[in-house]
Amino acid sequence: MERIGLWLIGARGGVASTVLTGLVALAQGKTRPVGLTTELPLCSGLDLPDWSDFVPGGHEIRDIRLVDQAMDLVTRSRALDARLVEEIRPELEAIDRRIRPGTVHGVGPTIARLADDSVPRDESPRAAVERIGQDLKDFAAAEHLEHVVVVNVASTEPAVDASRLPEEWDKLEPLLDEAECPLPASSLYAIAALDAGCSYINFTPSLGSLPAALDDLARRRGTRHMGRDGKTGETLMKSVLGPMFADRHLEVMSWVGHNIFGNLDARVLADPANKKAKVTSKDHLLREILGYAPQTLVTMESIESLGDWKTAWDHIHFRGFLGTPMTLQFIWQGCDSLLAAPLVLDLARLADAARRRGEVGTLGFLASFFKSPQGVVEQGFGRQFAMLEAWVGGDRQ
Ligand code: NAD
Repeated sequence: MERIGLWLIGARGGVASTVLTGLVALAQGKTRPVGLTTELPLCSGLDLPDWSDFVPGGHEIRDIRLVDQAMDLVTRSRALDARLVEEIRPELEAIDRRIRPGTVHGVGPTIARLADDSVPRDESPRAAVERIGQDLKDFAAAEHLEHVVVVNVASTEPAVDASRLPEEWDKLEPLLDEAECPLPASSLYAIAALDAGCSYINFTPSLGSLPAALDDLARRRGTRHMGRDGKTGETLMKSVLGPMFADRHLEVMSWVGHNIFGNLDARVLADPANKKAKVTSKDHLLREILGYAPQTLVTMESIESLGDWKTAWDHIHFRGFLGTPMTLQFIWQGCDSLLAAPLVLDLARLADAARRRGEVGTLGFLASFFKSPQGVVEQGFGRQFAMLEAWVGGDRQ
């Protein structure tokens, strides 16, 4: 049996605490594996780690306790079962002791304000990468781990234009010594992870491992990465319904999506700079699926009383035969962290399976898990899922 590290960036957030509660519950047989793709018969032939093989740890910037964050999901959002969180309190406390202070380099003022005094403020980007890398190596050594999968579930950073960054690792690497280094924290974590031979998964719209130079680094170190932004709710619906309109040759004239929710993620996304990264990620796929650009609007507002529950109301105005306009509306009411957590667990397992198969570079077969899949043009969920099925069947992509 191999022990596999699951290192979460943003380890005491809503998604992370749900991932960790779910992981312990699965490992102890306290819950059924509903929502997990890797528990489908499709994946039964894959060489996947068991839930009990995972050893969790992570980086965080806020001074809170993991168990208190999980309890917040119980009391404020009615999302987790109080009895379950109480039963696994010792395990959550043990994981909490493996969580290290992160970095806030380039995260913008809204996220930086969340950080406590243990987070260094005047560290150079290179020093941050070295410290994070050492934390990962210490974790792997102390826990006798075969492999560590690093998953970014930290707050969404303001958008960064990666188009002018050098495309080779040798040319990007010197930027780490510059005070004005354009790389945000998500990319510094990605560099530290890939350099240490870990797999890196970016579940957020932040830059992460998107720059071509980081793919170069991954290939040089013989490791792998994928992102960005988990596809859990409204955008999942878009990527299912969009191909339906395209395949029936119905003309989508406009698609409006209003989102309201009230967790910490919503509070961070209330900052227009952070919101822009998320809205871009939710908006681009329709025109790529349809092959033309209908008028679109995506709004996202923080309504505190809703806690972790997100309501998305989508209004789709489309033209049918003989030019007749018609409307489809749907209302999605999902619990954000509970939608995200199983995807994170699936991604950790599948990244490890890719390692066992010797895959390096971008993991395109994971496209169906992301709103903006790196290196993949296909945006329709059905065809993306077929890519996963083909990979499970032995294809390389
Ligand atoms: P959250 O605000 O509850 O948790 C984020 C955590 O990251 C917080 O604990 C915060 O302190 C920590 N953090 C912020 N910057 C950090 C840094 N530089 N280093 C280390 N820790 C840092 O948010 P959440 O609801 O758990 O969502 C996590 C991320 O996943 C967000 O970026 C969100 O947009 C993304 N995401 C969520 C969903 C979903 O919940 N359904 C879907 C897709 C993407």
